[in-house]
Amino acid sequence: MSEPLLIDKSKKGRKAYCFPALDLPRGFEQALPDIPASMLRVKAARLPEVAELDVVRHFTKLSTQSFGVDNGCYPLGSCTMKYNPKLGELIAQLPAFTTIHPLQDLSTAQGSLSIMYNLLEDLSSITGMSWGSLQPCAGAHGEYTGLKMIRAYFMKKGETKRTKVLVPISAHGTNPASAAMNGFDVVTIASDREGLVDMDDLASKLDDSVAALMLTNPNTLGLFEKNILKISSMVHASGGLLYYDGANLNAIMGMATPGDMGFDVLHLNLHKTFSTPHGGGGPGSGPVMVNDILRPFLPKPDIELTDGGYAYSWDRPDSIGKVSMFWGNFLVLLRAYVYVLRMGSEGIRAASSHAVLNANYLKSRLEKHFDIPYGTKVMHEFVISCESLKKEYGITAQDIAKGLIDEGYHPPTMYFPSLVPEALMLEPTESESIETLDAFADTLIAILERAKEDPLYLKGAPYTTPVGRLDEVKAVKEPDLRY
Ligand SMILES: *Cc1c(COP(=O)(O)O)cnc(C)c1O
Repeated sequence: MSEPLLIDKSKKGRKAYCFPALDLPRGFEQALPDIPASMLRVKAARLPEVAELDVVRHFTKLSTQSFGVDNGCYPLGSCTMKYNPKLGELIAQLPAFTTIHPLQDLSTAQGSLSIMYNLLEDLSSITGMSWGSLQPCAGAHGEYTGLKMIRAYFMKKGETKRTKVLVPISAHGTNPASAAMNGFDVVTIASDREGLVDMDDLASKLDDSVAALMLTNPNTLGLFEKNILKISSMVHASGGLLYYDGANLNAIMGMATPGDMGFDVLHLNLHKTFSTPHGGGGPGSGPVMVNDILRPFLPKPDIELTDGGYAYSWDRPDSIGKVSMFWGNFLVLLRAYVYVLRMGSEGIRAASSHAVLNANYLKSRLEKHFDIPYGTKVMHEFVISCESLKKEYGITAQDIAKGLIDEGYHPPTMYFPSLVPEALMLEPTESESIETLDAFADTLIAILERAKEDPLYLKGAPYTTPVGRLDEVKAVKEPDLRY
């Protein structure tokens, strides 16, 4: 089952290539410039010597051992692993886009600039903000950029005492990390019994030392913060700003906007909500979008539409500067633009309503069997707690996740948010059919029933993968990355 490394298949002299006969005169090497002795190899590089068929079989086998949304259901909560239309891939492979260079003369890149400009316009209307920057290359990078703008805004106003950023306990781990990286002190806000922002706790922590509140809405429990207008007026009344973590916009696209909710700045994860598969860890794109008060602080250059066409604008004295090379990940931006155009406003709205419908359908199939502590109706995702299973049978969230692998499913997000003990966070997304959702629910219930009778079996899962259950703590604490 497990595939050896190519170097282990190596046989001296075996080749996958055949060079044409040498047509240079003998002794030509002497005419080459002298290479310093210290730079010359003492012995030949250890490279695999294999035939073409060995290489083809090796990589084909490896490709069948990796799991992606193209070969199975991937219900990863918060991180939205939805189907990415192949049209986007097709267009992102066109040479007109893959051969363009950011330093070429702008008059020859007007098409690509117009795509970025139009994408910013579309994202502005989807989020209800005034403008944005496409430079950040990940969600966390967008958070960092957004908070840096908040910092610049208060510095400019001379409000240097605003050193705190409030973050609810249910927030994604990148939120406190981005605040800390910007030099802010992170203050945690409690959740109430419903799983929403605890209004009393928030009120008690709001004062003139607070720069911003970072909020995810719907939050990571899949719940809409119904007090959002009250929250935003409280934060603004105390002189702070509101940051929206829009990494996962799958529940509200085309339905509601963070701008209407009162947010001042946000980031989007184009690689979650607007196409681009991201299971391998990248490339990503986390544009920041702002309202008028933060617009002067956006990264530069901005894109402008002038009489002479699209142009870079560098003359922006309050800008926080550049946050990535050139424009960020252009091909991810392109896929997002294709997605938005192909879906249209009706399609985008329909995607959100189907995402919410699917999450609620799956939840209703599972709630008789599993403990789902927060939310009677949810938005795009929901969180199971395996705490009582652990107490009664010794079965953990991780055991269930590993059991799902043997059945051909990617595990859900585990142990997040920390507010739910033994958490399994499920987001089926809009793209799964009712048959897939039923099969997934049946599988999860069957795993549970079997585990109750025979908990030891589940402890050994997965059984069908090239490597079995790994010691994940040891792998993190003592990584051994050498061959
Ligand atoms: C994924 C995610 C992030 C971070 O995005 P990256 O692109 O992984 O940096 C932030 N917040 C939420 C809610 C997320 O789901």
